Amino acid sequence: MDTIHRKSLLYRTGVEYGDFTINHVQGCSHGCTYPCYAMLMSKRFGRVKSYKEWLQPKIVANAIEILRAEIPRLKNRIRSVHLCFMTDPFMYGQQNVCDASLEIIKLLNDNGIPVTTLTKGTYPREIWDANHDERNEYGITLVSDKADYGRRFEPYAAPWYLRIRSIQLLSKLGRRTWVSIEPYPTPNIVNQNLQEILDRIAFVDRIVFGRLNYNSLSSSYEDQARYYSDLACQVMEFCRQHRIECHIKKGTMDRSDDEKLSLSGDTINRNTLQARC
Ligand code: SF4
Repeated sequence: MDTIHRKSLLYRTGVEYGDFTINHVQGCSHGCTYPCYAMLMSKRFGRVKSYKEWLQPKIVANAIEILRAEIPRLKNRIRSVHLCFMTDPFMYGQQNVCDASLEIIKLLNDNGIPVTTLTKGTYPREIWDANHDERNEYGITLVSDKADYGRRFEPYAAPWYLRIRSIQLLSKLGRRTWVSIEPYPTPNIVNQNLQEILDRIAFVDRIVFGRLNYNSLSSSYEDQARYYSDLACQVMEFCRQHRIECHIKKGTMDRSDDEKLSLSGDTINRNTLQARC
């Protein structure tokens, strides 16, 4: 696998539910075609030239060296570090990427910094026995349980059921787990039942739900505002019933409901939208 060198790694994220983040790999072999925002940005800033190049991940070879210098300087300002917003830390079938991510998680945890991770791959066995921080949260992205959808939009990611099995095992071992249901597709892209997806993940500690953006099919779906607002209510109700922490991404609900959510803070006050839902 090719490598690259960077000058810095830890930075504060602008994403609403993140704190600091690290992207220690450039590119992602999952090759999502929603399209992938990370690939669009990487192309825009000239880091990769094509989809084909994006599919060939390059690890930041000096990641540990950089982190050893950055952590002491930033430690007191960091609540948690998210892996990753611009690549996938546990790419399916990419052992080198998984090893690099495990090494980084260990270094952060050894310095008292918890991590959240998010993948469309599966978690390696090493995590089962690792002496990781108990505040760590291990997540998967899951927006469909249809194989056709996977082949079309997440062609090289792990099958949806292996992702669920992977965090179910971690959950049974007492690890905190979460699911990002984002970017959730509209019915003109895939015909599926959100309730069935929710029922499969009732064991997790946190669910994040968000709409699909930057996609011409979803943009053309009639009444998408009402569609996403109704689904967001469904997710909130499911989380309330199962005592799961819930986060609805900004812009997913109608603007008026979104404003109420903003007033309630980052994590939903579950009573806030009772009247609406
Ligand atoms: S897993 Fe994430 S980073 Fe990788 S191609 Fe898909 S959307 Fe992009």
